[in-house]
Amino acid sequence: MHSSSIITLNQAAVNNNLKFLKRKLGSRVIISAVVKANAYGHGIEQMVPLLEQAGVNHFSVFDYTEASRVAKSLGNPCPIMIMGWVSDSDLKDAITRGFEFFVFNLERLNKTLELAKALNIKAKIHIEAETGMNRSGLNLADLKEALNLLHQNQELFELKGFCTHLAGAESITNYYRIQQQIKRFHRMQTIVEAAGFKPELIHMANSAAAFVYPKTRMNLVRVGIMLYGFWSSTETFIHYVNSKVKKTDPLQRVLDWKSQVMALKEIKTGEFVSYGTSYLAQADVKTALIPVGYSCGYSRSLSNRGRVLIHGHRCSIIGVVNMNMIIADVTNLIDVEVGDEVVIIGKQGDLEIKVSAFGDSSNQLNYEVLAHMPDKINRKVISG
Ligand SMILES: *Cc1c(COP(=O)(O)O)cnc(C)c1O
Repeated sequence: MHSSSIITLNQAAVNNNLKFLKRKLGSRVIISAVVKANAYGHGIEQMVPLLEQAGVNHFSVFDYTEASRVAKSLGNPCPIMIMGWVSDSDLKDAITRGFEFFVFNLERLNKTLELAKALNIKAKIHIEAETGMNRSGLNLADLKEALNLLHQNQELFELKGFCTHLAGAESITNYYRIQQQIKRFHRMQTIVEAAGFKPELIHMANSAAAFVYPKTRMNLVRVGIMLYGFWSSTETFIHYVNSKVKKTDPLQRVLDWKSQVMALKEIKTGEFVSYGTSYLAQADVKTALIPVGYSCGYSRSLSNRGRVLIHGHRCSIIGVVNMNMIIADVTNLIDVEVGDEVVIIGKQGDLEIKVSAFGDSSNQLNYEVLAHMPDKINRKVISG
């Protein structure tokens, strides 16, 4: 565990975000909370109970390991849906444990039916259709073949869902492509139904689609980024807020990330700071050493560009980001002491370092910054 910094999760923010999502999406739409990538870096073990108490009773993950972690963190059992990777050797356990999973090609379907038969347990499957992202999913010919197979093996599965994934609903650039996907999905849904199948759930929307293309909500939405208090893109936020009188953001960030001053130093004019020669002191500077570096997700591309908050002021990161440390310029602060709080992401006083500011200066998406937050940083939940 890294104790040199701490990630705090705010329960009130989780509650706020869920309340907003439920109000907007309506009571008939199931919100499946996407907690892949360690709950977008927040921590599966911490986020799952918070989401559960906020009323979530459906979870989506990328792989089998994450599904197991969610199952362990739940108070009451509820559906856990694996949208991606299950190794052949884990597939048996996935079926036994009642995890739901995407069937994205014929190989996966054959293997699933074979195991379900051997185990004498019905596999809970979601048929994923290829509608134009060209990543995973059954194309039309394979879908027809799959429906035949399912016909012959009715006793081996429960058809929990029929679904697809959209290729970039967060950007209007993709408008035409998304419309094509929606059309193709409906055509394929008709074929599934004509074959006599009634999937329990029909789903395709992520956060962006749920807001930009409301007709994609159907009866389940796989919401990730918004649970954590972020819009998928600035465009998605503007799309939402445009029609509103109040232009404020209804979402609240769940996570903040703090460290502390480890040591202080006075540097003379003309000296270089940190490795190499990228920072040259133009005047005498006072520096604060902070025990966080790229090994804990503080990107090296923030060298000489990042900012942190100390004593309610913005302080620049000077020199290159090290593996475990960064150096901030605190020349203009009086009375800084070892042990003083350093905010890396989050608020201090009136100021805030946003994940997006962090991302902009390191050329990363919010998603990417969050997913890079290492598991090994201590996490604490506060009620808000
Ligand atoms: C990650 C993911 C989502 C959630 O996306 P957000 O933009 O975070 O809401 C939904 N569906 C699939 C298949 C995903 O991989």
